[in-house]
Amino acid sequence: MLSEVTPFHFQGFDFYVKRDELIDPLLSGNKYRKLYTLLQTPPETYHIIISYGGSQSNAMLSMAALCKQKGWQFQYYCKPLPPHLKQQPTGNLQMALNLGMQLIETESYTQTITQLQSKGKTLLIPQGGADPLAECGIQVLADEITQWQQKKHLNILNVVTPSGTGTTALYLAKHLPDCQILTTASVGDNEYLTQQMQQLGSIPNNLNLLEPPRKYHFAKPYPELLDTYQALKQSGIEFDLIYAPKMWQTLLTHMQNIQGTVLYVHSGGLMGNITMLERYAQKGFL
Ligand SMILES: *Cc1c(COP(=O)(O)O)cnc(C)c1O
Repeated sequence: MLSEVTPFHFQGFDFYVKRDELIDPLLSGNKYRKLYTLLQTPPETYHIIISYGGSQSNAMLSMAALCKQKGWQFQYYCKPLPPHLKQQPTGNLQMALNLGMQLIETESYTQTITQLQSKGKTLLIPQGGADPLAECGIQVLADEITQWQQKKHLNILNVVTPSGTGTTALYLAKHLPDCQILTTASVGDNEYLTQQMQQLGSIPNNLNLLEPPRKYHFAKPYPELLDTYQALKQSGIEFDLIYAPKMWQTLLTHMQNIQGTVLYVHSGGLMGNITMLERYAQKGFL
């Protein structure tokens, strides 16, 4: 077992949490699982890893940590940085640069990334690690959940985890056919999430996209998301500020319709909290 499961009492309900955030501080949560195949890959297989996306992305930091471990060059494409961040990188960006990431800012971002490709000893990983390469590590996670479920003699199990690209939720559903997988979109709405997931394969019937109680813009500070983060932390577990609060709020509004045991898979991302908490403070919410 790569991570333990702990009981978690929150807002009057009993949950279990799979503590994937404890696996590794940099390669945390589902990023460890999604990069699992590459972590097992011999260093001589690749020279260069290329990826792209946001300049504070959790996936970026995890890939930087992976490449540092393997001695691979890491080239990461993003849109031009705002001047303050360029002068003084913070949070995930700062940590990734310290791990040796080469950052390539490009004005023609969309055009540039469509031209990127894997070739020889250069591997391209799509934004957020949304790649069939992620399946193997998510299957390991699914197998750990099945072992735990059998040991606990749980008949009806619901497995909850928030979605960005939906890679984690999709492969969990595929490899836990006897469980219900519950998720919600963090980027865009559930319709957009469905499109993203369909690029990786057909969507299993046991994958449920829950409607959130309200709309939120991705990675923007909202006082009620901060409240949920703080309430979760007071209940004993720190979660990330971008994905988890919305997932928990959504889960709580659906609890009356959910039967059986609920296992929340912690998706990691705690390193990103440093810069999110700063942004909350700047807005006067903290
Ligand atoms: C990346 C990330 C997600 C989203 O995972 P997907 O597999 O892209 O859906 C969820 N939570 C956290 C904390 C993340 O860093």
